[in-house]
Amino acid sequence: MKAVVLERAHELSMRDIDLPMEVGDHDVKIAINTVGVCGSDVHYYTHGRIGDFVVRAPMVLGHEASGVVAETGAKVTTLKKGDRVCMEPGVPNPTSRASRIGMYNVDPDVRFWATPPIHGVLTPYVVHPEAYTFRMPDNVSFGEGAMVEPFAIGMQAAVKARITPGDVGAVIGAGTIGTMVALAALAGGCSKVLVADLAKPKLEIAARYKGIVPVDVNVESLSAAVGRATGGWGADVVFEASGSAKAFDDLFKTVRPGGCVVLVGLPVDPVPFNVTAAAAKEVRMETVFRYANVFDRALALIGSGKVDLKPLISDTYAFADSIAAFDRAASGRPSDVKLQIRVSNS
Ligand SMILES: [Zn+2]
Repeated sequence: MKAVVLERAHELSMRDIDLPMEVGDHDVKIAINTVGVCGSDVHYYTHGRIGDFVVRAPMVLGHEASGVVAETGAKVTTLKKGDRVCMEPGVPNPTSRASRIGMYNVDPDVRFWATPPIHGVLTPYVVHPEAYTFRMPDNVSFGEGAMVEPFAIGMQAAVKARITPGDVGAVIGAGTIGTMVALAALAGGCSKVLVADLAKPKLEIAARYKGIVPVDVNVESLSAAVGRATGGWGADVVFEASGSAKAFDDLFKTVRPGGCVVLVGLPVDPVPFNVTAAAAKEVRMETVFRYANVFDRALALIGSGKVDLKPLISDTYAFADSIAAFDRAASGRPSDVKLQIRVSNS
């Protein structure tokens, strides 16, 4: 089967590769329609590794996907051939200790698409468990379905924040994930969300959404802008979505006393931070790693019209042009939010 294969760092090819296609009793076979290009796919392409995950053998890329059920296993009850679906890319071991306490996202045994050595889904077909395959409402497009995965990270951040209706939120970083976090925080009840970045094109895209207040940190710090917006009190919830060590300087000035800081971005190196500043406000700190139990809620929000991710799809490439899509993503145009690849038009 043709696939987008990362042979090693800097070397992508479109070629045939053998992939397991056996449909187990509780599996479905899905004809892939759309796959989003994620920052992690691009990072494996440009660096060959993310932390301890190293590409040691050719690996198919892609984990943000939607498609159509082509075949169902003998014991599948909730899906049928022809259903339009999107897929949660991480499959945990259901008997693991992490799964049993409901935190299957931190199961060390989780098999996650396009995380070495597990193949991703930039290929015409994939076999996936029914339990991690979600039927999409009719009004949700395949492009939006392939956006559920990055949006799920925003959902997980909003869940971990324990937002109260009317909260003022602040997000550091207006990249794809920062924007997803801001939209999930608004859907979760924030009255407004200030979003900070250095890149004007990213801020302009985020600012199209009602409730998002852009903060250009070339002009004003996020803590100053939040101070003005809250009478000097601070934001109820601050989400760090830049992964930049510098963001930590301003973090505890931005949050209100007793507020919450959610760390979403993953800095490459360990980051020192001001414990005393955090303690003086008794800040609650949360972390996010992927997501658990939010895919269905993310889809429900998109289907309800409360969250519109369509404006974030910057361009869609044909499957044959996949490598061009990756090269464009690697070039990091500031006006690009999400590039997608249409694997099949059916
Ligand atoms: Zn992703």
